[in-house]
Amino acid sequence: EARCHDACKEDRRLVDQAAALLRRIVPARLTHGAYALVARFLGALMICGLVIGGVFALLYYRGADSSAQASVAGALGLAFVALMTLAAFAAWFFILAGENQRTAEGETERQTVMLLDEIEAHQRTDAALQRAKEAAEAANLAKSRYIVGVSHEIRAPLNAISGYAQLMERNPALSSRDAVRVIRRSATHLADLVDGLLDISRIENGTLRIERNRINLPELLNQIVDMFRLQALAKGVAFTHEWPETLPVWVHTDVKRLRQILINLLSNAIKYTNAGGAMLKVRWRAQVAEFEISDTGVGVAEADLERIFEPFERVGGETGVPGIGLGLTITKLLTAVMGGELTVTSELGVGSAFRVRLLLSEAPLPAERPAAERRATGYQGPRRKILVTDDDPTHLDLTREILQPLGFDLSFSRDGPGCIELARSGEPDLVILDISMPGMNGWEAARAVRAALGESVAILMVSANAHDFSRTRREDDPHDDFLIKPYEIDDLMERLQTLLDLQWVSPAAEPVS
Ligand code: ADP
Repeated sequence: EARCHDACKEDRRLVDQAAALLRRIVPARLTHGAYALVARFLGALMICGLVIGGVFALLYYRGADSSAQASVAGALGLAFVALMTLAAFAAWFFILAGENQRTAEGETERQTVMLLDEIEAHQRTDAALQRAKEAAEAANLAKSRYIVGVSHEIRAPLNAISGYAQLMERNPALSSRDAVRVIRRSATHLADLVDGLLDISRIENGTLRIERNRINLPELLNQIVDMFRLQALAKGVAFTHEWPETLPVWVHTDVKRLRQILINLLSNAIKYTNAGGAMLKVRWRAQVAEFEISDTGVGVAEADLERIFEPFERVGGETGVPGIGLGLTITKLLTAVMGGELTVTSELGVGSAFRVRLLLSEAPLPAERPAAERRATGYQGPRRKILVTDDDPTHLDLTREILQPLGFDLSFSRDGPGCIELARSGEPDLVILDISMPGMNGWEAARAVRAALGESVAILMVSANAHDFSRTRREDDPHDDFLIKPYEIDDLMERLQTLLDLQWVSPAAEPVS
């Protein structure tokens, strides 16, 4: 009864009906509870009246003779009124006591419900805390795996660079060709690793910028096939490729990201295949390309198919196979950011097929020949002045090595104030400025140079921190373009060509752009 709060009592229903009846007879702005109280009181009074009246009537008819009837009736009448008054007080007292009990019961019920709610909320918080704890532990574990993996990935190329550097130091007569090749490859690997880590961080915080390049698709595919042909051959894996004649030559996409996606999937296909083959198949229909990278390798169990896209997840205990478990994470994130989808089908011990579907809109043929700046030995027109500012002398030397043979008039500065002074006196056509320098940083120096020389100077900012350029360029930014260290010489040449409006000259003295 306490749980149904008296609603299930027969008496309660009667009281409700009586209260409703009372409300109809004497309508007033009273609550249902007040009407119920009055109904209970009237009911109790009525019962008392009936009992007392009944007893008195019995006394009257049995006990009195006719001569005393009138006086007995009077006395009984008085006694009835007195008893009824007493009964009214008693009924009112009991009803109030009952009401108090009901209020107490209601309060107990309310407290019980609140307590139950609280216990439930505690259980929910407990479960959430448990989940958060497990997630934090998993993240911690992942971070440790990540650090171990990253250190391994960094250590291997560093070892190669350091080893060759030591060899060259000990024996200057040593042929530097191999060393340079290994050092360059190692540097590229390190730069790729840093790029990959930055990519994940940028994709996760939403600052990755997708570019729209016009690319020669068959050329890109051929480059990628060339890249993997030797790798597959060395491993004894047959590598085939197939794309239709109807594949458009020029398409719009972010070439760096597309290359990254295909390289990740193809290197996995070859890495995880010990016998049989790997295949790259491309289909193109209605501006949508499907790249299918399949292999007859170790395959992935059905239960692990989702897990392999999680960071640092490596399945199947591939001992000895290099990798840190970031490739598929990056590939999946990149495909999604480019508006495409990545799907996989795989069977353990049989092979896998990864499919990337991307919108690759066909582009019109380029108006001019692509630049072949790599072979440029100079440029047409007057001699241009370039002021290079970097606190790191190695970078100044490197830039000198690149730019001097091309015939630029160069000046160098190691800090911001020096740069501003040289810019004022020398009035260069282009200032190449490092951002992070002690004292005055590159941005401050760039603003001062812009203020001093106005639009007559082009400013190219250089930074090793890709986050410096992660936001979109603003109208009031002092620079015209930027480069992220380490940069490809081709990229620097391309910036110079645009900023200084150059026409490169090839060894045959022909304009090449
Ligand atoms: P990594 O190759 O560096 O380990 P990935 O993120 O590229 O990292 O791949 C994650 C895991 O998915 C791999 O460790 C491997 O177990 C599995 N995997 C990826 N591609 C293939 C494939 N083609 N065949 C079999 N297993 C694969």
